[in-house]
Amino acid sequence: MIYHPDALLHDTGQGHPERRARLESIVQHLKDRALWPQFLHLQPPPVPRRALLRVHSPAHLDRVAALAQIERPTYVSQDTAASLGTYRAALLAAGAPLTAIDALLAGHADHAFCCMRPPGHHAEVEAIMGFCFFNNVAVAAHYLRAECGCDKVAIIDWDVHHGNGTQHIFAADSSVFFSSIHQFPLYPGTGAADERGLGAGRGQTLNIPVPAGSTDADYLGHFTDTIMPAIDQFQPDFILLSAGFDAHRHDPLGQILLSAEGFGQLTELVLQLATRHCEGRLVSLLEGGYDLEGTAASVAAHLSALLAA
Ligand SMILES: [Zn+2]
Repeated sequence: MIYHPDALLHDTGQGHPERRARLESIVQHLKDRALWPQFLHLQPPPVPRRALLRVHSPAHLDRVAALAQIERPTYVSQDTAASLGTYRAALLAAGAPLTAIDALLAGHADHAFCCMRPPGHHAEVEAIMGFCFFNNVAVAAHYLRAECGCDKVAIIDWDVHHGNGTQHIFAADSSVFFSSIHQFPLYPGTGAADERGLGAGRGQTLNIPVPAGSTDADYLGHFTDTIMPAIDQFQPDFILLSAGFDAHRHDPLGQILLSAEGFGQLTELVLQLATRHCEGRLVSLLEGGYDLEGTAASVAAHLSALLAA
């Protein structure tokens, strides 16, 4: 369990869905369910600048650093708000998967969950977008290749929104396989099935756009019929999961009908892939999830499956 209380310092202001209560309710629920004491707990340090620069430009780093001067929550993109604590929280959220990866490769754990915010999968090389500042999962994938000797990384993204930033960062990269299942059409509008990657990365992007009203059974079918065979063929050294929980049936931002139990079943499928290809190594990163109860229950189901494996 990778968590840092300074993730709560990212204040997005009254009424913003990506709020500190998301993490508070997850942690409280995991304590109520007696799951919290079962984890190995690690606090991440801020991400090193060199790790961010593998994904983002120096200008983007300066842009996010400047947010630490904003006293009151202020919109810094169409939908993304920031204030004094945002920069530190963003550095910790991007550092979290690196701490997780180090722990797994050192043999201290088999799987890890980064219970952090702000999320990352909408952040582009040069853009703050969709509540995201740094692309945490992309920073992690680059770190695996540059510093951990992993040649092939698979990223699975089951957030209800398409992971546009992650897709674009690795579109032409044959060593990162990116697969996203998401409601379509929906924000941000990308993620059509014919977006399959570019150049050397052609075929290494797999989008599964699904209609509003899709269910647990629909998602399980897409995993077993399409996503799992594709990742079996890719044979990754490491699996990263962009785990948003806004495809939960009560989420206010999506119209997908997943249950908390469904997230547990999907977790078991991802674990099968990790077992087959990467000695079980799986790092999961919290992305979206805006219904407090639905998200907390779904995270608990996700982590129960990880603990049982
Ligand atoms: Zn989302």
